Amino acid sequence: MTQAERHLFPVCGHRAHLPDELAAQALTFAAPGAAEPDDVQDQLRCTLQAHVTGAHSSFVMELDGRTSGAVWTHWARGGVPEALVVKQDCPVSGPEPACEPCCEYVDHPGAHTWELDYSWRNTPLVTAPKLRELLV
Ligand SMILES: [Zn+2]
Ligand SMILES: [Zn+2]
Repeated sequence: MTQAERHLFPVCGHRAHLPDELAAQALTFAAPGAAEPDDVQDQLRCTLQAHVTGAHSSFVMELDGRTSGAVWTHWARGGVPEALVVKQDCPVSGPEPACEPCCEYVDHPGAHTWELDYSWRNTPLVTAPKLRELLV
């Protein structure tokens, strides 16, 4: 089955800016010296499947180590990110043969990332390494 034959769901794509104090706080989740300010994603876009209820969600920073997970933030509609949370990666991967890993966090709402249409990828946005790979 090719990508074109699959039904893809629209991605939310709601934008937010990570407040400077949270960007600084994100670095404290990494081992000393393991992360730099450039590793922190501060231009946020909700990467969940388009949704009408619930908070928006964005990846903020990868943590070293395969089981370390990543730093995420959530924000309410009309609100701004107010806290960071470390979440493990979603363990589900896509169908064979590609078996694409999902780039969301464990127990995220909506579809997995390989089921989403990231058509906003052509708009200028600095993305975190993990999502950058997905959007190439
Ligand atoms: Zn959203
Ligand atoms: Zn997933």
